[in-house]
Amino acid sequence: QMQRALRSLSIPLERLHIMKGHMIQDMCKGLSRHTHAQAKVRMLPTYICSTPNGTEKGTFLVVELCQSQVRILLVTLYGDGNMSPHMVYKIFDLPEGITRGEGEALFDFIAQCVSQFLAETFSSDTSKPEERIPLGFVFPFTCRQTQLDKAELLSWSKGFSCSGVVGKDVVQLLQSAINKQELCQVDIVVVMNDTVGTMMTCSTEGRTCEIAMVADKGSNCCFMAEAHLVETADGTSGRMCVNTEWGCFGDDGTLNDVFTPYDECVDVESSNPGEKRFEKMVGTLYLGEIVRHALIALTAEKAVFVGTDISVLKEKGVFTMQHILDIVNNEDGIDDAKRILELLGLQASERDCSRVQQICRAVMGRAATLHAIGLAAILSYMCQTRNMETLMVNVGVDGELFGNYSRFEEIVISVSRLLSPECKATLLPSRDGSGRGAAMVTAVALRLAAQRHEVNEVLAPLRLTHADLEKVQALMREEMDRGLCKETNATASVRMLPTYVSHTPDGTERGDFLALDLGGTNFRVLVVHVKEEGIIMASEIYIIPAAIMQGTGEALFDHIIDCVIDFQMKQNLVRDMLPLGFTFSFPCQQLGLDKALLLTWTKGFSASGCVGQDVVQLLREAAQRKQHTGMQVVALVNDTVGTMMACGYDDPKCEIGLIVGTGTNACYMEEMRNVGTVEGDQGRMCINMEWGSFGDNGCLDHLFTHFDKVVDDTTINPGKQRFEKLISGMYLGEIVRQIVMVMTEKQLLFQGKLSPKLQTRNIFQTKFLSAVELNGLPLRQIQAVLSELELDASFEDTVLLREVCQTVSLRAAQLCAAGLAAVVEKMRENRGLDQLSVTVGVDGTLYKLHPRFSSNLQKTLKDLAPKCNVSFLLSEDGSGKGAALVAAVASHAAN
Ligand code: ADP
Ligand code: MG
Repeated sequence: QMQRALRSLSIPLERLHIMKGHMIQDMCKGLSRHTHAQAKVRMLPTYICSTPNGTEKGTFLVVELCQSQVRILLVTLYGDGNMSPHMVYKIFDLPEGITRGEGEALFDFIAQCVSQFLAETFSSDTSKPEERIPLGFVFPFTCRQTQLDKAELLSWSKGFSCSGVVGKDVVQLLQSAINKQELCQVDIVVVMNDTVGTMMTCSTEGRTCEIAMVADKGSNCCFMAEAHLVETADGTSGRMCVNTEWGCFGDDGTLNDVFTPYDECVDVESSNPGEKRFEKMVGTLYLGEIVRHALIALTAEKAVFVGTDISVLKEKGVFTMQHILDIVNNEDGIDDAKRILELLGLQASERDCSRVQQICRAVMGRAATLHAIGLAAILSYMCQTRNMETLMVNVGVDGELFGNYSRFEEIVISVSRLLSPECKATLLPSRDGSGRGAAMVTAVALRLAAQRHEVNEVLAPLRLTHADLEKVQALMREEMDRGLCKETNATASVRMLPTYVSHTPDGTERGDFLALDLGGTNFRVLVVHVKEEGIIMASEIYIIPAAIMQGTGEALFDHIIDCVIDFQMKQNLVRDMLPLGFTFSFPCQQLGLDKALLLTWTKGFSASGCVGQDVVQLLREAAQRKQHTGMQVVALVNDTVGTMMACGYDDPKCEIGLIVGTGTNACYMEEMRNVGTVEGDQGRMCINMEWGSFGDNGCLDHLFTHFDKVVDDTTINPGKQRFEKLISGMYLGEIVRQIVMVMTEKQLLFQGKLSPKLQTRNIFQTKFLSAVELNGLPLRQIQAVLSELELDASFEDTVLLREVCQTVSLRAAQLCAAGLAAVVEKMRENRGLDQLSVTVGVDGTLYKLHPRFSSNLQKTLKDLAPKCNVSFLLSEDGSGKGAALVAAVASHAAN
C-alpha cells in the first residue's frame, strides 16, 4: 500500500514529457486570438515590453497588495545599473474582514496607507518631491490588462472577494481613492502581477532575466514572449512579458491521470473545486493538505498509525508547511517527524515516522518536478519562437517553496534540463521581493514613455493622414491634366508622354519576335515565341563596357547590333527577318511607335551624339552599317509599357503598368480625346506618365521632411525626381539612415554612439528594410545584419529600427497608392463608370520582395479609390516579353 501511494505521487519520465507538451499547447492556445477565450492557461499580456537597462533613475512609489498586508515602498534609482537603489518601506496589516467587504473600502484603505506613508517619509516640507510621484501597483490577481495602466479584474482568489471590483479597472479604483486623500500628487503609471515584479528584480545590467517563477501559496510564472505571438495585445512589437497564470493548467482535465485520490480530496475541500488544479498540486497552501489526506488514506489501509487515534488528522490545516519542511529538509528528519507527530497528538512508531517522511518527500518532490515541467515548457517555447538552437536564460524565483525547500532548485534544474536539454536555465533568487522589481517596472515604463514621446516626435512628419494622401491624389490628378494638355505640358511636373501604343494584347497575337532591353540592371537580347500554347522566351545578357557607354553613339549602337547578331547565330535565327521591340528605359519624347527622341541619358550612359536623336533610327543605321537584315525595329517602349503589355497578355483588364524598383514610374491607357499632345480623338493611347518627377515644381514641398531634403541634396540630381525619391528602392535605405542618425544623436538608438559606419552613405540598402521588416525574423538575424555594419544593437534597438523602416516603407507605399488612385479614378471618370474594374501590371524588386509594400499599397488604394476594384498582377520579365508583344500588336494591327 505504501508502495502504491508513493508510486501515485511520482510521475514517470515519459509522462513528464507529455505534460510538458500539454503545457506548450495550452500556452499557444492562451496566446492565440481565436482560442484565448477558452484557454485555461490564460497567458495574459502585461504590456511590459522591456526589462531594465540600468539607466533608470528617479523616485518611485510602489504599492503592493499581499495576502494579508499592504506594503508601501519608496525606491530611488540612480541610473547606476540599479545596483544600489535607496529604499524605504512600511507594511500595513489589512483590517479584519476587509478582503471580503466592499471594494471601495479596500481601495480607500490602501490610499490611506499611501497617505500615511508619504506623510511620515516626507515629514519635513523640504524633502517633499516637487514633481508628481509615479506609482507602480502590484496587484496579484488575475486581470485582463489592455495597457500598462489599465487592468480589469477577472476574478478574485486567495481568499479575497470584495464586492464591486470584478470587471472594473483596478488602476482607476485606486487612483480615485488616492485622489480623495490629500496627498502630494501621485500618478499610477503601471499595474502588474507579482511575478512580473519578481522578474524585474532579478534583472540587472548585463544580466537580464526573462522568466520569473513564484512558488508560494499559489504558483505562477511569467516570461518575455515574442510580441507578435501575443495576439490578444494589439499594436506591439518586440517582446512582451506574459503572465501565464499557469495555476489553472489542468482545469480541462489534462492533469487527471496524475491527480491522486489525495489531490481529489484537497480539491473537493477547497473553496474552488475543479479550478486551479495545477496550483493545488504545487502551492504551499495545499501541500500540507495533500500529506494529511495521504496519511488518512494510508491509516484506513492500515499502512500507518495502526491502532492509533488519528481524529486529529481530520482537521483541515493541522499539517502545516513548516511541519513538512522540518521533516524533509533534515538529514535525520525522522526525529523531526517524531517530534511533530507527537506534538499533533499522534502516537507514532519508528516505522510510521519513516513513512510519514517518505510521503512528505514525495509530495514536495512532486511539487518541484511539476514546476520543472512548467519551466521546461516555457524554455522550449522561448527557444523555438526565437528560432534559436540553444537558449541560455536567467529565471527569477521567489516564494516559500523555493526559499525554504532545500531540494527545490536541484530538482527544478535537473528535471527541466532533462525535459528541455536545448535550454540552460539559471535560477536567481529574487532580491527584496517583488516590490523593488515593481519600482523597476515603473521606472522602465517611464523611461519608455519618454522615449516613445521622442520617437513619435521624430517620426511624426513621415506619418501621413488620409487627408494628406487625398491631397497628394488631387495634386497628381492636377498634374496629369496639365501634362496631357498641349498648352501646359511644358511646365507640368508629370510629363505624360504619349507612347503610340494604342492596344493592349488580346491573346490572339502570334509569331516570333526579337526584343532588346536596355536601361535596366542588365542589357539583354531576347527571342520571344508567341504561340497558341503560350509564350516561350530565350535570352542572353550582354555586357556593355563602360568605355562604350561613355563613348560615341555609333560605337554603342554598333555594339548592340553585334550582340543581336551573336544572339541570332546562337539561337539559329539568322535566316529569319524578325520584328524587334526595343525596351529603352530612358526618358524619350515619342513621335510614333518607332520614333523616339532621347531627352537625356541617365544611369551612367553618356554616349555622344544621341540626345535629341531618334533612337530607333540610330539602331536601324547601325544595322545597315553592319549589313544585318535579320531584324526590323517596329517599336520602342518604356519599361512601364512593357510591363503593362506583358501582363495584358494574361489579363485583358490590365491597362496600367507600374514599376517600383530602383526608380518608380507608371503608364496607363488614356482616351485619345484627352491627349492634347497627339493629333486625333479616336480610341486610346498608353501614356508613360514619368511620375517620378511629380513634385519637381514644388507642389509636394509640404511633404518633404528634413530627412528627404538631406537625401535629395546628396543625389546627383538634387531637386529632380522628387516623388521617386520618397518611394523607390534607390532612396528608402538612405532615408532610414538619416533618421537613424538623428535618433542616435538623440540617444534613442545604439546608446547614442554614432559609429563611423553609420555615417557612411548608402550603408542601409533597401533590401535591408525588407529583412528588418520581415515579421517574426528573429532578433539574432537582425542583429547579425547590423553587426555586419559594425553596429552593436540591443534588442530594443532592433525593435525601434524596425519601426523606422516600417514608417518609411509605409509612407512610400501610401504615396504610390495616392498616385495610382489618381490614375484609376481618372480612368473611371473617362469611361463614365460608377465602378471600374482594372488590373495593374507591376514590376520592380521593391514591390516584389518587400514584405509589406504591396499590401500597404493595395490597402491604401482601396481607401482612396473605393469605386475602383483594382487587381495587381506581377510581371515576369515584362521588359522583354512586353517589347515583343508591342511588336506583335503593332504588326497585328498593321495586318
Ligand atoms: P530596376 O528597377 O533597375 O529594373 P529592380 O526592379 O530589380 O531593378 O530594382 C532594383 C532595386 O530594388 C534596387 O534599387 C534595390 O534598392 C531594390 N531591392 C533589391 N532587393 C530588394 C529587397 N529584397 N527588398 C526591397 N528592395 C530591394
Ligand atoms: Mg526593371
